[in-house]
Amino acid sequence: MRMILIGPPGAGKGTQAANLVQTYSIPHISTGDMLRTAVKQGTELGKQADVFMKAGNLVPDELVIAMVIERIGQADCDSGFMLDGFPRTRPQAVALDAALETAGAALDAVVLIEVPDAMITERITGRRSDPQTGDIYHLTFRPPPAEVADRLVQRKDDTAEACANRLAKYHKDTAPVVPFYEETGKLVRVDGVGTPAEVQLRIVAALQAVNNQAAN
Ligand code: AMP
Repeated sequence: MRMILIGPPGAGKGTQAANLVQTYSIPHISTGDMLRTAVKQGTELGKQADVFMKAGNLVPDELVIAMVIERIGQADCDSGFMLDGFPRTRPQAVALDAALETAGAALDAVVLIEVPDAMITERITGRRSDPQTGDIYHLTFRPPPAEVADRLVQRKDDTAEACANRLAKYHKDTAPVVPFYEETGKLVRVDGVGTPAEVQLRIVAALQAVNNQAAN
């Protein structure tokens, strides 16, 4: 299964991806996670990406495209992968398409998780993560247990200001990816409002429908 999860920041892509990769036994390729690791490790890519990420801006296409193409060429991606947070611009989608065609591979589905803007800000600004376990909480929707509350951190790009910028960028840069995949017939729209379990059920049902269509 080669699939892509797209949607606005805070749509629940990370949460859904973590469960879906287990269901389909495929590697989870999150460009946000890869870039944060590069920043933490102080690699050349990390140094270049840091400035853009801190401001809530997109990292330039050429850097991200090279990183992803290198990653999906690795052996663990031979039988599939889940891309989370990529492509985020039309040039990224075009470059991915070309790379897959060269490799003789095809995408199975592109899942678009839809959440209205009004809910996004509330979801993002309340998000906190546990640096020790990687667990993600929400101050209102998924309150952390008291014993971990003090060590939780907020991502630099989850502040209200950076969030507004990321949403604007999503509409300007990433929304054009949707018609690109709609034309290929691979796009599946899923309502992202609800509990993670509810959204998960919708995604799995939608993927089954795509698979059944492909089989007929
Ligand atoms: P995420 O964790 O997916 O929200 O990504 C965090 C940040 O990493 C984004 O705000 C961007 O600065 C950067 N980033 C992640 N994926 C991409 C991408 N496909 N293209 C450009 N920048 C990206």
